[in-house]
Amino acid sequence: MPEVRNCKRCKRIFMFTTGPQICEACKKLEEDDFEKVRLFVRDFPGATIQEVSRETEVPTQLIYRFLKDGRLEVTEASPISLQCENCGSRIKSGRFCVTCSKKLATDMMNAGRSLKDNIKSDSDTQSSKDGGLRYMHNDRKDK
Ligand SMILES: [Zn+2]
Ligand SMILES: [Zn+2]
Repeated sequence: MPEVRNCKRCKRIFMFTTGPQICEACKKLEEDDFEKVRLFVRDFPGATIQEVSRETEVPTQLIYRFLKDGRLEVTEASPISLQCENCGSRIKSGRFCVTCSKKLATDMMNAGRSLKDNIKSDSDTQSSKDGGLRYMHNDRKDK
């Protein structure tokens, strides 16, 4: 169901349905920005995010968002990187590194399972708690 929202980009009121909270006009502008950034990092894979931003006139926050959304991909050699929201290691796109995404997926499954086990027995819940703690301390790097 469409709702009236303020566009995050130009602050104009528009009918919001799904996706990013921006109006149609801004969506097009963002597509253009995305295309500029995509072509630039393809042609200059060694460019830093500041260089990309300067050359394409796209704000760095938007470039980071493209990366976080997993739309923009940079090469392994690129100085552009994000930090895993869980362990802080350098990643190229999305929110978590491969290791953490896997662990988080397993954790989610365990959480669901321990919730069920809670009703059945206490001992199973205990063992999954221990697993959780070990994982918290595992490969956490300070930058
Ligand atoms: Zn707008
Ligand atoms: Zn991680």
